[in-house]
Amino acid sequence: MNKRLSAIRHVALDMDGTIYRGGTLFETTEPFLALLKELGISYTFLTNNPSKSVTDYLAHLREIGIAATEDQLYTSTQATIEYLSEEWPQVKRLFVLGTPSMCAEFSGVGFILVPDSPEAEPDAVVVGYDTTLSYPRLCRAAWWISRDKPYFGTNPDRVCPTDQPTVMVDCGAICAALEAATGHKPAAVLGKPDPAMIRGILHQHNLQPQNLAMVGDRLYTDIAMAHRAGALGVLVLTGESDAEDAAQYSPAPDLVVADLAEFGAQLRSCPNRAKSYPDGASSPNITKPGSGAAKRSPNRIIPA
Ligand SMILES: [Mg+2]
Repeated sequence: MNKRLSAIRHVALDMDGTIYRGGTLFETTEPFLALLKELGISYTFLTNNPSKSVTDYLAHLREIGIAATEDQLYTSTQATIEYLSEEWPQVKRLFVLGTPSMCAEFSGVGFILVPDSPEAEPDAVVVGYDTTLSYPRLCRAAWWISRDKPYFGTNPDRVCPTDQPTVMVDCGAICAALEAATGHKPAAVLGKPDPAMIRGILHQHNLQPQNLAMVGDRLYTDIAMAHRAGALGVLVLTGESDAEDAAQYSPAPDLVVADLAEFGAQLRSCPNRAKSYPDGASSPNITKPGSGAAKRSPNRIIPA
């Protein structure tokens, strides 16, 4: 484990249950982020929720006391955009079920968002956690899907957790309605546990999977994604899972810690940490940072 920890150059952090609960920042979060800076380890905050934009999230983080920059935030919208750009380069025109801020992120990078009309034919349909969903648009999405247009979900969550007396119907449930109506399955569903979230961060920082630790409180999203991406999966027991859940889960998390403070202590105390950099790039399975091969190549070096 010390060897694996000494290769860590970047930490991807789940948010709810990992750095805060609801609106309250954990006491351990700020010291942990300060330690990462001290150790020269960069970090990104991850979220499956595409209903808010990067700007919205930065404002939320600021409100609870974390100063973050745009490139420190990675949402499932960005994962979807990156995936479409890489894997479906012919897709330019989209019919999108998403909030105005999600739609703006797609149009902001050059996608053409078609209006709700049988004449405005898209190349594909994108389904998000659309808190502004309307019945006519849901029907239009089903129409295009029934006409064999591929559709993509931004995240698999069927509901978004809430403490309010309601059920927040999320992207996975909207996709399920579309599938029931058309008989067609989504061509892909991004967001955790799909490893595209981690791949995007690795590309951004020109790192290899073994240089990244994914820290989260959910086994079947955070830890499953880390495993699928070949990154270090660190479970914190400050959210959904307890030690017993962790012991029963397969594949097991690489590391189980009580909280971010414990993970920080392990990072700090791992021997050869300074010396290991950039030797992490010299093991046989990985490409040296800066060689270009790690950039947006479709043949990414990700274990299946
Ligand atoms: Mg969480």
